[in-house]
Amino acid sequence: MTQQLVEKLRQGNRRALAKAITLVESKLAQHRIAAQEMLEILLPDAGNSIRIGISGTPGVGKSTFIEAFGKHIIGCGKKVAVLAVDPSSPIAGGSILGDKTRMEELSRDTNAYIRPSPAGGQLGGVAQKTRESMLLCEAAGFDVVLVETVGVGQSEFEVAGMVDFFAVLMQPNAGDDLQGIKKGIMELADALIINKADGKGEIFAKQAKQHYQNAMNLLAHTGFWRPKVMTCSARENKNIECVWQMVNEYCEQAQGEFANKRARQNKEWMNKLFVDLLELKMQAHASYKSLREELEKQVIAGQITPLNAAKKIADIF
Ligand code: GDP
Repeated sequence: MTQQLVEKLRQGNRRALAKAITLVESKLAQHRIAAQEMLEILLPDAGNSIRIGISGTPGVGKSTFIEAFGKHIIGCGKKVAVLAVDPSSPIAGGSILGDKTRMEELSRDTNAYIRPSPAGGQLGGVAQKTRESMLLCEAAGFDVVLVETVGVGQSEFEVAGMVDFFAVLMQPNAGDDLQGIKKGIMELADALIINKADGKGEIFAKQAKQHYQNAMNLLAHTGFWRPKVMTCSARENKNIECVWQMVNEYCEQAQGEFANKRARQNKEWMNKLFVDLLELKMQAHASYKSLREELEKQVIAGQITPLNAAKKIADIF
């Protein structure tokens, strides 16, 4: 069954891709095993896309932007997949990103594939599934993978850690002094894109651009790329082509750095998964929970040093 699916997926069959992603997202143990088998077979076929992260708070215009950006990229002869990391997407609904009416035109395009955010699993959470889905999209021949996220919790950092190019969408706000951007995100962003630069918003967008540009200039950038600040209007389709041009410039300048960056990301992710696995094994250990609770009480009561208590827990493994 897996072999058939793999063959169809390699041919770019969207139903096969959807099925394969469902397998990856499944919580059933036998599906997880089949999914890992499938991913190992497809690994050599993956990796041939440009992976672009798009982050921004709800309402900033992400889906409007992705619709316009995706259509522009398809117009350049490419196939585009859109995936999401939505930390608010639990098992039963309640997601910030994933309603069906988003990106309506793009979702009807045969050169696009849009997948709403999965619910998180134990191992690596939503990010693990998105990473795996990304590989499947690449094996199915998608040239560009857009990974969308909101500025909630760790999700922006997780997405920045799985893409080649990380863009943050911003709103133009009058007199805004770097509000709405989380500490540490400026350092991760390859581009800040101020959306809604149209009508009355245009002047504010220009001011905001200057503001963010100044802030960006203060950061030390060690790599080959100087992060860009630009404005666009997703609704009016203005400057969208400039964003794509910027991504292409980045790719040209990146050269060998691309492979190095992905290798580093994989290594870091392996280490994170290892820690997650250890944690799961610990939780499953018969006496871990009770011993830990007992030692916590003793530490609070000042009967044992924190180091000795930690050693006692570690000793059961
Ligand atoms: P998301 O929550 O980040 O996905 O944001 P949406 O794409 O759903 O957009 C939120 C609101 O902003 C909607 O009412 C959009 O019509 C509006 N919007 C999005 N892009 C633009 C733009 O470029 N200009 C203007 N004026 N409004 C926009």
